[in-house]
Amino acid sequence: MSIWDGRLKDPKDYLELKCKTYNSAPGKLTGYDCPICKNRGVIAQPGERDVVFRWCSCREKRLMLKNLEKSGITRLNTFEEFLCPEKWQSKVKGRAKAFAERDWGWFYMSGQPGCGKTLLCTGIVNRFLERGKSVRYFLWREDGTRLKALAGDIAYREAIEPYKTCEVLYIDDLFKGAVTQGDLNLAFELLNHRYLAGSITLISSEKSVSELVALDEAIGSRVYEKTRENRFHIPNSKHKNWRLNEWN
Ligand SMILES: [Zn+2]
Repeated sequence: MSIWDGRLKDPKDYLELKCKTYNSAPGKLTGYDCPICKNRGVIAQPGERDVVFRWCSCREKRLMLKNLEKSGITRLNTFEEFLCPEKWQSKVKGRAKAFAERDWGWFYMSGQPGCGKTLLCTGIVNRFLERGKSVRYFLWREDGTRLKALAGDIAYREAIEPYKTCEVLYIDDLFKGAVTQGDLNLAFELLNHRYLAGSITLISSEKSVSELVALDEAIGSRVYEKTRENRFHIPNSKHKNWRLNEWN
């Protein structure tokens, strides 16, 4: 029996059936398990004459994951995975969760590798993506190096623009390694733009905010002012003598 027989005389019904069939088939994308598109990445919908396809909302997540691969992160974790055996951990997790529900402000987490800052930051990114926000990832030692190499070149403006103007920016490992004048110039341009525009910015670093101020007062003071109750430093000690809103 042809699909045009019987009940499906109307081409609209035919298109809808075609879409339904397509949308029920699982896809092959990996990295993130999407219940909406069943990992096809696209959704079929009836168009004027034929089926048309649109990107699924998981596209942003998949793009973010591709970027995060640069730093060895293979999936976006949820806040629940950040375990809190100690009181300060629950407190910082609570602040991170609250921050991820807002549409403004900056978040700063500093500490040694392994202190949990990446877990919390990617948890925030995950929630922002779930809320439909567009997030860009900036890995300092890689994207920073690329942009510094372009400084003075005509391509520089175009390359830095998306990081200045994106809805949410996550700068990972700010000022990793030795800090040059080029690093300071780049960080100031990026952060000053976002400071003036009031754009959501998330920063992780091995350097505390007080170390930032010592490095460059213009950058440090902007970060200090914008992060308010969302500024955390985990010192490198066994007992993690945690100070909220660190400042010394
Ligand atoms: Zn999807």
